[in-house]
Amino acid sequence: MDREYFDRIRKKLQKNLSANRYEHTLGVAYTSACLAMRYGADVEKAELAGLLHDCAKEFREKELLKMGEERGHRFTDAELRAPQVLHAVIGPYVAREKYGVEDPEILNAIRWHTTGHGDMTLLEKIVFTADYIEPNRFKADDLPEMRALAFRDLTFCVYRITGDTLDYLDRKGVMTDPMTEQCFIWLKENGYHDDK
Ligand code: FE
Ligand code: FE
Repeated sequence: MDREYFDRIRKKLQKNLSANRYEHTLGVAYTSACLAMRYGADVEKAELAGLLHDCAKEFREKELLKMGEERGHRFTDAELRAPQVLHAVIGPYVAREKYGVEDPEILNAIRWHTTGHGDMTLLEKIVFTADYIEPNRFKADDLPEMRALAFRDLTFCVYRITGDTLDYLDRKGVMTDPMTEQCFIWLKENGYHDDK
């Protein structure tokens, strides 16, 4: 991967995404690269996964369902009940077919960027966290704390984000994908808890 390759991917994304989504995408790409530097992950893979994490986000729910069906993807009931997750489910297909990415580590980081799951890889944790803390984000009250925490203890940060997400969805009465719960349980089993 050279810088020209990144340039081409960025240009294509800029064409396919809204201006705001594109800005968010750049924020996630650079934040992922920084976290990769901090934790010794592959910086280019992190940047590319960050760039492409929302590559399926502009499609409507109906289109995402159709794209999955055409590719033989069997949606779980939970995926069908939590449509905010569909762009992450279909993201790896779009990344492969439209952007030519074959690396399974990158495709998995795209797949799990919304919900997380039990036993996440370092690259998956990086993109998941970068999506939450990138510079264009402003809504969560605890962002300053989370941003610092991400660079101090990445896995604990994933634990905190997951816990906050579960609380938030619960308060709003929105269906949660069980993967988020699995992720939270996995982290608890690994010794993470609120006052760690
Ligand atoms: Fe997303
Ligand atoms: Fe995102």
